[in-house]
Formats: sequence, C-alpha cells, structure tokens
Amino acid sequence: MLAASLAVFAAACAPRGDRDDSLKSSSSETAAPPHPPARPVVLATWNHGLPANLAGLARLADGGSALDAVEAGCRVVELDCPDMTVGLGSRPDRDGFVTLDASIMTGEGRAGAVAFVRGVIHPISLARLVMERTPHVLLVGAGAEQFARECKVELRDECQRCDAPGGACLSPAAEREWRAWLTEKRYEPKINIENHDTISMLALDREGRMAAGSTTSGLAYKMHGRVGDSPIVGAGIFVDAPIGGAICTGLGETVLRTLGAHLAVEAMRAGATPQEACEHAIRRVIAKNGDPSGYQVGMLAMDYAGRTGAFAVQRGFTYALQEQLRDAASALA
Ligand code: ASP
Repeated sequence: MLAASLAVFAAACAPRGDRDDSLKSSSSETAAPPHPPARPVVLATWNHGLPANLAGLARLADGGSALDAVEAGCRVVELDCPDMTVGLGSRPDRDGFVTLDASIMTGEGRAGAVAFVRGVIHPISLARLVMERTPHVLLVGAGAEQFARECKVELRDECQRCDAPGGACLSPAAEREWRAWLTEKRYEPKINIENHDTISMLALDREGRMAAGSTTSGLAYKMHGRVGDSPIVGAGIFVDAPIGGAICTGLGETVLRTLGAHLAVEAMRAGATPQEACEHAIRRVIAKNGDPSGYQVGMLAMDYAGRTGAFAVQRGFTYALQEQLRDAASALA
C-alpha cells in the first residue's frame, strides 16, 4: 500500500449571480514559489480519480516522472470505467460509435493530443506518442488511427472496421443504454449523473516537474464527429512552468468557449492562488455561457508548490487529491 493521504473531495460550486471578482490584481508575474515541492502530489477528477492517483503515485515511486504518472493514472481508468465515460467501454455517440479524445502536456510546453479516434485502447498513450514522435500537437480521426497502427499501440481492430450503426464494439451495458436512448433521442447533458465525465489529471513529481492529462469518450450520444474540450490544449488541460496547471471536466462546449484551463493558469500567473484561479475560471465559464442550471463544469488547479484548488458550476463535482507522505518506494518494500 502506498504511503499516501487518500481522499475524495466535493468541490464548492459557484453561487448564482456573482460578480467576477475572484481574480485579485497582483504585481507578481509568477505566483508559484520556484522551489520543487517536498513531496509529489496527484490530483484528478471524479471518484475514478482515486484509482488513477494511486497508479500515478506508484509510477512516481517507481522512478517515473509527472508525465509517466499522468499517463499511468489515465490508463487505469481507460481500461475500467464503471461510469462508461472513458475508454472503449464508454457510451457511444448518437450513431452508436465510441469515439475517444485525449491530451497530455508538460510544464515545459510539450503537448500531444488525439481526437475522434476509434478502437484505441489507450488514447492517453497515443496522445503522448503524438507529443514525442511527431512534429504535431493534435491528430484526429483516421489519421490518428493510422498513426496508432504505425506505432503498434494496442487496438481493438473490430471497432475501427465496423461501419454499421451501433458498431461492433459497444459493451453490453452501453449498447443497452444506447438502444434505450434511441427511443427518445433527447440530446441533453445530465448534471453529475453524467452522460459525460472524463478523467483529467495533474501530477507534480519530486523534481518539481508538472504534467497534465485528460482522456474521455466525451458527451454521450453526441453528434458523430463532435469533439469536446478534453483534447484541446488550453481548454481541457494546460500547464505552464513555473506557474502551475489546470484541468477541466464537464460540458466541453462551455469550456471551449473560454479556454478554461488556460484561463485558470493565467489567473495564477497574475497572482491568484489555485483556488482563486478555479473560481475565476468557473465564473468566466458561467459569464460566457449564460444560465448555468443546465450544465456542469468542474475545474482543478495546482501550482508548483503543490497547492491545489477546486471549483465547479454545480454541486456534486468530486475529485481526488493524494500526496505522498513518505518515501513510497520504501513503503512498498
Ligand atoms: N469534457 C468532456 C467533453 O465535453 C466530458 C466531461 O468531462 O464530462 O467531451
């Protein structure tokens, strides 16, 4: 068992009708202290953030970097997501196809992402390969799948080949729900009991390096071809050394309109704490998108001192925060 503080928290939500006064002015260019943290921190969205964080901490204990930790954590949820919102077991789009999005980024500004991919078991790892092996940041659809085959990543080929509505790749539970949905075809997000979720994750390692990642099937029953905020660097995730990082979950369209994660990091650059930055960004999301009663957005942020913040449009957004309290390698021995 890792020596870590384990906790799932519920973020506070924005009170209605608030002025956007959460960003305090500051003359400081860099709010984050320049020193590496005393201990690694991992932070992830929703309850599935707990197993993701544990996998991330284990990777750090194994000598991995923050980037390795984020990838390892996201991979756990891609394989096994009871919420059916991450990985190939997810709910499909309205035509019955599971299409996946993912992104990964380091504080040094390296980034990779994939969107609208089918049949890829670990989109987060494919996003990392885009970052490490191509001159590009974002590959989509058939091109991303071609790259996946070239890299010999794990694929479920039948998901890519099948052009029949309903695909060949739906889990029994997802197929049952999709067929029930087809009877009414109501195209609306459900707050927190989500027909969308996403694992988004931030990690800070002992050397003071930070990375962010996100992987999702996006909004359930979305239009075929729809892509949300999660694979868009600056929207779903953003990290910038030596300031900090931010990650989002929720209705991607609302985050895309504000580049939510970038907004939160820039708020920290202007002197906000991670908590103030999340509140500022969420209030901007609400200001840009109007009546917040019909959607959820959850935001998490962390600075290079390991301080964290969380805020959401609605009640019910949970997240997992874990810190390594002592040397995990010796604890594992
Ligand atoms: N942000 C994701 C999307 O809109 C879904 C989610 O986080 O719930 O695709």
